[in-house]
Amino acid sequence: MRINRSCASVKAASRMVKWQEELKTIEERGLLRSMPKVSGMPGRVLTIDGHTALNFSGNNYLGLAGHPKVIEAAAEAARRYGAGSTASRLIAGNNETFRNLEAFLMQWKRTESALVFGSGYQANIGIISSLMDEQDLIVSDELNHASIIDGCRLSRARVYVYKHCDVDDAEKALKNYAGRRKLLVTESVFSMDGDAAPLKDLNFVCRRWGAFFMVDEAHATGIRGPRGTGLAGELGIMPDIQMGTLGKAVGAAGAYVAGERRLIDFLVNTSRSLIYTTAPTPATMGAALAGLKIIESLEGAQRRQLLQANAENFHSLLTKSCLLSDTIPGQPSHIVPIILGKSDAAMRVSKECLRRGVFAQGIRYPTVPEGTARLRFTLMSDHTPDDLAKAVDVLERAVEAITRENSREYRC
Ligand SMILES: *Cc1c(COP(=O)(O)O)cnc(C)c1O
Repeated sequence: MRINRSCASVKAASRMVKWQEELKTIEERGLLRSMPKVSGMPGRVLTIDGHTALNFSGNNYLGLAGHPKVIEAAAEAARRYGAGSTASRLIAGNNETFRNLEAFLMQWKRTESALVFGSGYQANIGIISSLMDEQDLIVSDELNHASIIDGCRLSRARVYVYKHCDVDDAEKALKNYAGRRKLLVTESVFSMDGDAAPLKDLNFVCRRWGAFFMVDEAHATGIRGPRGTGLAGELGIMPDIQMGTLGKAVGAAGAYVAGERRLIDFLVNTSRSLIYTTAPTPATMGAALAGLKIIESLEGAQRRQLLQANAENFHSLLTKSCLLSDTIPGQPSHIVPIILGKSDAAMRVSKECLRRGVFAQGIRYPTVPEGTARLRFTLMSDHTPDDLAKAVDVLERAVEAITRENSREYRC
């Protein structure tokens, strides 16, 4: 067939074929996703696709998304500052809610300066792509979040992907590969595996080879460290670029980056995902500030303790059952993957759990590497001991049921 490239209708037709084909491939591989219908307040119980179930799939680790003070702060900010911020922060959008939140963030993180983005995704693509370019080297953990990967791609820098949490591999790259500037980037607590990066050792090799060190504390903000500032704080190190999100434990939305004043000034001038987007809403910023204030307070410390106790309890319950897979971090964590391997198995076990009143989302390729499909359990400080016992019981039964269907032996 001859294709006339100047003919718009032919072009449109060939584009359609591409997406139709790709969608079909996704379906055939059993990887089709859809968005479940959720209703009600965020908390330890949720209603999803008509089922009411214990919620083990949010990132609302401390229950702050449904906390009366956080909700009231959102409402109050909307009443005082309006429903929308009306423009980019560099034009007319930089209202008082941002200044209040950033002033809080820099004293909380003990850094010279802090900057808020609309989301963690925007923060990572904006930070990495403005710091690095074609002449630079980025050294990135193989399990880093998609937003970090996309930031690396946008930067056009050379990227070396090191083995998960392997300091020697990372150091080898910093030592052997050229780059005008070098950046090492890692999550602190990994989003899909729940394990913690060896930040101290990574920090050391960055100093040794003159690399910037960037840490994404999305899943450690509010959870780890003194006053909930993250894992870097817990380990007593100061990475050059400390990023964290405000939509997970903090209970609102958005993200922050904390560091030297000149770094923040640079990002304000160059981060396209900060500059070319409307500022987040006052309500979001108000809620984030209220969430952070709770995190820093005694109540926050108590919620962290409850979460930690739940992580230990859940870990020991899984150890007693036959479900503790060897890919789960040795340490109890608030993120617990149950690796089932095949996508289909993970999705069916997840569905079966939901039928029995426990929601743990199945996670599969491309979010995690192929062959490591899993149920990802996330714990909350609000979960009770009974909730955890039920979760493990239901999970065991669901795995058993699906295994029986597959007539494969499941051995302890
Ligand atoms: C969730 C997440 C992000 C993205 O944050 P959003 O605010 O949801 O856009 C970035 N990095 C990591 C490690 C995450 O888990």
